[in-house]
Amino acid sequence: MKKVVKFGGSSLASAEQFIKVGNIIRADKDRRYVVPSAPGKRFPDDTKVTDLLYSCYELAERGQAFTKQLNQIKERYNEIIHGLHLKFSLDDDFDTIKKKFLDKAGSMYAASRGEYLNGKIMAKYLGYEFIDAANVIRFHSDGTCDTEKTNQLLAQYLEQAEYAVIPGFYGSTVNGKVVTFSRGGSDITGSLVAKAVNADLYENWTDVSGCLVTDPRIIKNPEVIHTITYMELRELAYMGASVLHEDAIFPVRKAGIPINIRNTNRPEDEGTMIVESTCRIPAYTITGIAGKKGFVAVNIEKDMMNSEIGFGRRVLSAFEDNGISFEHMPSGIDTMTIFVHQDEFQEKEQKVIADINRLAKPDTIHMESDLALIAVVGRGMKSTRGTAGRLFSALAHAHINVKMIDQGSSELNIIIGVRNEDFEDAIQAIYNIFVVAQL
Ligand code: ASP
Repeated sequence: MKKVVKFGGSSLASAEQFIKVGNIIRADKDRRYVVPSAPGKRFPDDTKVTDLLYSCYELAERGQAFTKQLNQIKERYNEIIHGLHLKFSLDDDFDTIKKKFLDKAGSMYAASRGEYLNGKIMAKYLGYEFIDAANVIRFHSDGTCDTEKTNQLLAQYLEQAEYAVIPGFYGSTVNGKVVTFSRGGSDITGSLVAKAVNADLYENWTDVSGCLVTDPRIIKNPEVIHTITYMELRELAYMGASVLHEDAIFPVRKAGIPINIRNTNRPEDEGTMIVESTCRIPAYTITGIAGKKGFVAVNIEKDMMNSEIGFGRRVLSAFEDNGISFEHMPSGIDTMTIFVHQDEFQEKEQKVIADINRLAKPDTIHMESDLALIAVVGRGMKSTRGTAGRLFSALAHAHINVKMIDQGSSELNIIIGVRNEDFEDAIQAIYNIFVVAQL
């Protein structure tokens, strides 16, 4: 068995966390390829090393003194090195970084050092080989990842290395220019490594015990999702649930490698398995609930709308021409409603309305703001009768007025629109009926 293990910033923020990570890796000899993030926050008000590097480099870029800030970063690493009792120094690396900052090597180079240096410590601590991601993660000159070349380089390097550390988040172009992924991008590195070595499992270690059924800021200690499909995860992520960088799914999904989300602080927890498909019946009819506030519904009415060919297209082009994307579009015979993001729409509202009037000549347009959308997602809904009935009776009992209903034809999700002020109560009611009532 071959496992790729990626550890997030909070799992590597201090020597104490490194020790936990070391124990996790050593507990399973299959954990052969390790992808570390940069040190994250040690406590809630702390600053991530990546952010320290960005601001330190900004000073360098403006030609201001930055040594003090760079020394603070060095201190963060030295604390870890000393806490692990390693005989090892990053002095030479910091001299190089200082020179590169003076030469204005770029903010991507600066940010990448967070992972690079943490990777060096990790390799030393574990006795694993260190492989600089600049040699194996290849970017095109436009900043997108060259996944094919990356796969080839990773496979080639890792064939020779039984155990290795590959820092996350960055790579380089063919000319050696360091490029980073977007924030949280170490997840992508882990996924690329897993694909290249044809891993049996990609473990993504973080500070939560997996994907939660819903937002813990709304429901205290929600249940953990045991198994979720990529499709379900995507639906929930789109509605704001975040566990993994979105682009991390693609490489492993294509290769059929499952992702296991695990908690470094509670390694005994099984976490969540993310898989392509599964015959495992979900614990509850639904897999997860996610949602977002801040939508506007633009309701458009016109007599005989149903028989006017091209009406919908003309309305939508008014949004498109103004650069506004829409989220949902429920319609009736002579009405259609377009859901858009309030903050995006507000500043262009008058222009959009004028364009709809000009292009589609509706009878009336009225708008309702401060709406929220909630996605109730679950592969189990397809085979269960009465899900919608239970959902809407739960909302009715909680005195919540449902403004919109949209069920995808895949029966994987039901989207409902409610007022912003009803958002939390609606999620509570849905959680109670599908999860608490089934516990
Ligand atoms: N260190 C980077 C960040 O803070 C990348 C990562 O942690 O995945 O975004």
